[in-house]
Amino acid sequence: MKKSIFILLTTFLLVLVLLYLYNEREEILNKSFLDNNIYIIYPYFNNKRIDNDIIRYIDKYRSREYQELYIDYDYYIEDDMVNLTMYTYGVNNNLVFNDEKKFYVNGLSYDIDDFNYNGFNNNNDGNKLIALTFDDGPNYNTNRVLSILEKYNVKATFFVLGSCIVGHEDIIKRMNDLDMEIGNHMYSHKLVSKLTNLEIENEIYMVDELIYNIIGNKPKYIRPSYGSYNKRLKNVIDRPIIMWSNDTLDWKYHNSRRIASRLIKSVRDGDIILMHDIYRSTANSLEIIIPYLLKNNYKFVTVSELFYKKGIVFSNGNIYYKAN
Ligand code: ZN
Repeated sequence: MKKSIFILLTTFLLVLVLLYLYNEREEILNKSFLDNNIYIIYPYFNNKRIDNDIIRYIDKYRSREYQELYIDYDYYIEDDMVNLTMYTYGVNNNLVFNDEKKFYVNGLSYDIDDFNYNGFNNNNDGNKLIALTFDDGPNYNTNRVLSILEKYNVKATFFVLGSCIVGHEDIIKRMNDLDMEIGNHMYSHKLVSKLTNLEIENEIYMVDELIYNIIGNKPKYIRPSYGSYNKRLKNVIDRPIIMWSNDTLDWKYHNSRRIASRLIKSVRDGDIILMHDIYRSTANSLEIIIPYLLKNNYKFVTVSELFYKKGIVFSNGNIYYKAN
């Protein structure tokens, strides 16, 4: 009897921990209302020292006359110094400020990977194929990501949110002009399990319509918000579901060197890689990742090209994580 209570309690605690980890994703964007006119959107980071610094940075702009500011950041550790760069954008997506700060972190331990590629698996067997995929955009940062991809002549797939397309139609058009692939990440980034069948269909249909009106095609693939799916979604949709085999955790790290290091150490031929075009640190990480992997015989392709070249034929409603 006692043993079964113990097992029940342990299971209950485990479920709580899993729920906590699952919900973490939803807290990324903090909205800070400064006064009646101004609000600021900034990524959340679960580290007191850095959070405090970000808050102080935001406080500096309380009295300025901006309607809306987007704050993003990137940082890296050098010996016992933190280099924190804050990027501030206005509504027109233009960089307004770019401040760099250095401060000591004596006595604080940061869970940061060293910037090295120990474990990088480079077998020189010709071209290896990987598909970079970017979720949750477009936003002020997406054009920067597109410019880096364009610079290296690299193709990628963007799973866009309907709610973010409005006002950023020019970015969708640019993705298409650059031969990027555009996928459907649903309209408002809600959990599929909390939606009715009709709501799921609407979430997908609204994105299809928006994209169709800009580029004349609707997305070929779906990546459900949060990458969460259930039987109802599989029955409702008429397209393949594309997940990922390698999560860069860029939404959590906000550190270009750590994102690059983690990906380069773990990447494999045929991988689908999860990133988010909405963060400056993700864009910065591409400046490390792309040249390094190109030099090591990796080719960056869209999801369609990846599966085509690997000889895998899609079927509707099926879920695909990788092509190897
Ligand atoms: Zn998402």
